[in-house]
Amino acid sequence: MHGLSFAARDLAKAATDWEHPSGGEGMKILLVEDSVIERHEVGRHLTEWGLDYVALGSGTEAVKLLEAPDPPNLVLLDWLLPGLDGIDVCRQIRKLGKNGTYTYTVMLTAKNRKQDLLTAMEAGADDYLAKPVDPSELRARILAGKRILELQQRLQFAATHDFLTNLLNRSEILSVLQREFSRSEREGKSATVILADIDHFKRINDSLGHAAGDEVLKEVGVRLRSDLRPYDVVGRYGGEEFLLILPGCDLATGRRRADEIRDLVGKDPISTPLGTASATISMGVTVTSFSPERSVTEILHQADTALYEAKKNGRNRVEVFSAATQALDQPNAKSAGKGNA
Ligand code: GH3
Ligand code: MG
Ligand code: MG
Ligand code: MG
Repeated sequence: MHGLSFAARDLAKAATDWEHPSGGEGMKILLVEDSVIERHEVGRHLTEWGLDYVALGSGTEAVKLLEAPDPPNLVLLDWLLPGLDGIDVCRQIRKLGKNGTYTYTVMLTAKNRKQDLLTAMEAGADDYLAKPVDPSELRARILAGKRILELQQRLQFAATHDFLTNLLNRSEILSVLQREFSRSEREGKSATVILADIDHFKRINDSLGHAAGDEVLKEVGVRLRSDLRPYDVVGRYGGEEFLLILPGCDLATGRRRADEIRDLVGKDPISTPLGTASATISMGVTVTSFSPERSVTEILHQADTALYEAKKNGRNRVEVFSAATQALDQPNAKSAGKGNA
């Protein structure tokens, strides 16, 4: 597919090819150029520098690829194109980018008046390269783009992850929960929601010190993550509390999986440079599909209520939100619950 234009039906394949980028580490290049000769010329240089790329011949195809999941993040964009031109594509890129990920855009064009430069930058281009493209200049522009993208990725990671455990942070895991809740409303599929809390964590801090407590939190995070499937998510909800979301998982399966995770976390002691600690967790479980009040707040309240039960009933155990248990035992109870809401 290197350097070749392809039809819309190949867009999905192009998106999956990004999973194995070679050379550019985290950089996915899209070259948009309608001239076959120039496309091959620029493409040849990219390949020479070990950079993987996809090439398209029109602005319309480019926007389609940029709208698909996991889009390219560095675009080399010709100005004059059939259909949408480079300026239109630039504006579209900036509109799409409002969800947080950044697309670094370099305009390639024979237009070279100062006013053209300003027009491109105003439309959202980051940089500008005059045609015919000089290979050294192109390489310099790509290196600058790569630095900006790496910085942006680091900032984005810091904004969405917890600095201690590297798990998703509170606001990010809550966004995931909102998304899964909306999806289960739309598609009628449930997701299991688990609130986990380390038992008697204060005692670990008190006996080994706060630094050891931090090490224990990190290791619990590692263990929580180790048993998850690729599409399951876990975040740090608060101090020693974690929120797990298992999409497509019904209550019976969710309860079983929670118990497996609980067992895995507490099975082996955790050693830290300051001493060894045993950390067990209690868990409260519910599902997105069982929410008579139909809100994320209600789901969190259900998980918290079940967690409280687990603490009350002796800790190091899993409890399922009791009204949800009823729904599990008698499938009709769920619709009765909804009717009362
Ligand atoms: P329970 O079994 O009822 O949950 O008891 P607990 O001791 O775990 O609960 P409690 O809420 O009494 O104490 C939680 C402790 O977690 C208190 C707080 O200092 C500690 N903690 C919260 N965040 C951190 C952190 O980032 N690092 C460390 N080391 N401790 C933390
Ligand atoms: Mg052109
Ligand atoms: Mg707590
Ligand atoms: Mg606790």
